[in-house]
Amino acid sequence: MSLYCNTCCLPIDGERCPVCGRKSDRQVASDDLCFLTEKEQIWSGMLADVLKQRNIPFVQKNVLGAGLATKTGPMLESVRFYVFYKQLSEAKAIVDELFSSLNEEENED
Ligand SMILES: [Zn+2]
Repeated sequence: MSLYCNTCCLPIDGERCPVCGRKSDRQVASDDLCFLTEKEQIWSGMLADVLKQRNIPFVQKNVLGAGLATKTGPMLESVRFYVFYKQLSEAKAIVDELFSSLNEEENED
C-alpha cells in the first residue's frame, strides 16, 4: 500500500515524497486525487475527451508555462490533470497510448 503526499497529490512508495521531500504517514485512498500529467492546452482537450469516453472522472488545473515562454512563445498555458487513485493506472495507460507517438516525434532533434 502506498502513502500519499497531500502537497503534491501523488502516491509515494517511500515515507518521503520524492517531489517535495515531505514525510507522509497517510495511506493513499482509492478516492484520493492523484497527479496524472501536464499537457499544453492544445492537447488537453483531446485528453479530456478520451478520459470522458472511458468514464474516468478527472480534475483540470490551468498553469501558466512562464518558464517556457521564450522558447515556445507567449501565452502558452498548460493543464494539469488529476484522477482518482483507483483509476490512476488506467488513466496513465491512456496517456501513454495517446502521447507516445507524439513524444517520439519531439525527441527527434
Ligand atoms: Zn510532495
